[in-house]
Amino acid sequence: MVTTVILGMLCVYLLCFSVMFLLISTRLNGKKMGMEVFALGNLLLGLAYILQLFGGPPDEGVMSVINHTLTLSAPVVYVLGAMRFFERPTPVLRPLLMLVAGYTLLQLLVQWLLGTEARHAMLAAACASLFLAMTVAVLYGRRTFARDLRVEMLVFAVLIGGICILNAMKFAMILKGGLAALDMGSGFQKVFYLYMSFLATVLPPSAVWLVLRRLTDELRNLAAHDPLTQLLNRRGLMDALDAHFRSRTAGPAYLLIVDIDHFKSINDTHGHNVGDLVLTRVAEVLKATARQGDLVCRLGGEEFVVIALDTDSAGALQLAERARAAIELSQVAGAGLSEPIRCTATLGVSHEFNSAQAFDEFLQQADASLYRGKTQGRNRVEWEGE
Ligand code: GH3
Ligand code: MG
Ligand code: MG
Repeated sequence: MVTTVILGMLCVYLLCFSVMFLLISTRLNGKKMGMEVFALGNLLLGLAYILQLFGGPPDEGVMSVINHTLTLSAPVVYVLGAMRFFERPTPVLRPLLMLVAGYTLLQLLVQWLLGTEARHAMLAAACASLFLAMTVAVLYGRRTFARDLRVEMLVFAVLIGGICILNAMKFAMILKGGLAALDMGSGFQKVFYLYMSFLATVLPPSAVWLVLRRLTDELRNLAAHDPLTQLLNRRGLMDALDAHFRSRTAGPAYLLIVDIDHFKSINDTHGHNVGDLVLTRVAEVLKATARQGDLVCRLGGEEFVVIALDTDSAGALQLAERARAAIELSQVAGAGLSEPIRCTATLGVSHEFNSAQAFDEFLQQADASLYRGKTQGRNRVEWEGE
């Protein structure tokens, strides 16, 4: 009785999450992160549990064959959903239909040739192999495609590893003790179904958590970057500066302000779109000339800021001169232009500073140097030397 109630509750739970995944997927325009596939996985698992509830003893007949096919299909569908979550677009319906047809036929063949016991052993072996492959893939993902979800991936690996071990044990027990090993009253079956129920309860909310993390990370990323050049914007720069100075080993920073010369006339002569191309090109040049770890930001309009980290005044001035020369050499071609256009920029460099709070003060200082550079002919680097 208690088992029936628990199984019934689990069905309702899985089907509710199936609907919730579908609803979430309708809110994620374009990039559904595999949610619609997870909905299908939950539906299949829910159906498998319903069959268990109403299908009588699971060892015989058509119901048992369908149940085994559903039991194997659900985790395969979750894998396909996970592939979509990790941006590896994959078809779902065709592989699923092939699996359903193939595994059902295989079951009928094994049942006919070797009997029920072999068919149950086959399911346990197939599940053990599938979950082993999933555990390995998840551990591999921690180091490669899912580095931002290291903790989550470790938890998944442990959970999936557990069900792999239980299926391997079940396989061994069927080989040794026959179908008696599947007696629902046995201690092993109780542990097995308790663990399955635990997994079916924990994994759906975990999937929602993963989607939530990805969405909030994306939002944070959008809020920190300039959409035209993909450089940090002012907010992103302040956060990155904060993070830098919070580190105990943080060295001093120098602020370089970069302003494109006569940019308005580029816009006026060639149009706003070409102006945007010039901004993008200058952003690329600044990214390429800065050292790895330096912060490059579009402050607004045609003004950029580069923060040179862990260097001295000579290093900061060298970087400014390198950037100035690289901008002068760069060009923008195409976009209906009869000949490539070039531009120059003037740079102002600040003194060293040691806290994010000092940013505005040192921005003003670099801006004053920049102003001097503009009045002294542009295309030059200026700073408040000692
Ligand atoms: P100076 O050499 O003294 O710096 O002169 P300037 O023409 O570069 O400076 P000014 O501040 O007069 O002009 C900046 C121009 O940048 C004016 C504005 O229309 C343009 N601008 C600002 N944001 C954007 C943008 O996102 N795209 C494009 N294409 N132009 C922009
Ligand atoms: Mg300006
Ligand atoms: Mg300008």
